[in-house]
Amino acid sequence: MAEQLRFDGQVVVVTGAGGGLGKAYALFFASRGASVVVNDLGGSFKGEGNSNKAADVVVDEIKAAGGKAVANYNSVESGNLIIDAAIKAFGRIDILLNNAGILRDVSFKNMKDADWDLIIKVHVKGAYKCARAAWPHFRKQKFGRVINTASAAGLFGSFGQTNYSAAKLAMVGFTETLAKEGAKYNILCNVIAPIAASRMTETVMPPDVLENLRPQWVVPLVAVLVHKSNTSETGGIFEVGGGHTAKLRWQRSGGLLLKADDSYTPGAILKKWNKVVDFSDPQYPTGPNDFMTLLEESMKMGPNEQ
Ligand code: NAD
Repeated sequence: MAEQLRFDGQVVVVTGAGGGLGKAYALFFASRGASVVVNDLGGSFKGEGNSNKAADVVVDEIKAAGGKAVANYNSVESGNLIIDAAIKAFGRIDILLNNAGILRDVSFKNMKDADWDLIIKVHVKGAYKCARAAWPHFRKQKFGRVINTASAAGLFGSFGQTNYSAAKLAMVGFTETLAKEGAKYNILCNVIAPIAASRMTETVMPPDVLENLRPQWVVPLVAVLVHKSNTSETGGIFEVGGGHTAKLRWQRSGGLLLKADDSYTPGAILKKWNKVVDFSDPQYPTGPNDFMTLLEESMKMGPNEQ
């Protein structure tokens, strides 16, 4: 039998760990030997109010099972205080799970600045503040693992969730750049688009579906990605939930290259539009196109058909 992945001696910070996915992460990592900072503001799923209870209940459960955990009640908007709590309680931080989140669903027509701002603050600024505070520790110890949390809503769009979709796709760009900056220091960063039963989804999915989407079934992928045995998987975008685990990537069409001169007009593009949208010979880019090569090729071409 394969050996269990263990996290003995490591410190894991889980934001939004008072319920749903965060609670599942916290219980798992504590059961596998890690010391866990159980952060949760304890508000409603719309981000109203706060309470110590959500985090305390999880810490009590971990301790009752013989694990090590401390509670932290700060908002992720003050992520530095959450990382401070890890250092104060356990002297280090190895793994950061940026998981806290809220919803302010409303059609775009009725979107208010407050709905927009709060979602961006909690998801984007929250993930930034936690990662920013953890970063110097990761760099110094030449080890760090980060999971950011996106959503299918961010990747594909979702009615009534422009604010949430924008924030969640931001997690992808954030992760991709962190992965590039962290690689030299053995800081690996991946982003997941999970699906799981929680108070966020219980009102939009039927009970029989929810039963098959336990938060515990998102945890194993996260464990694989943040374990020290993962030394290469970074900058990945993963879909996970209900037993499904898949990686996503960008696809670029073969594309249309035209002469860049005055004949590069809307008409010239329209004439060959099928090439712009033709995915029969795709590329899978992990960085910007090689524009210098394309430019050289374009310069050699004759004038474009209109
Ligand atoms: P959840 O509401 O059960 O958990 C989120 C937790 O974050 C809550 O306990 C909440 O109190 C906490 N929280 C909210 N704002 C906070 C703040 N400012 N500071 C600290 N804690 C805060 O929901 P969940 O489904 O477990 O969601 C976890 C993450 O997964 C979220 O980022 C969510 O957007 C994302 N997500 C979930 C699903 C899903 O199917 N459940 C799908 C896509 C993305």
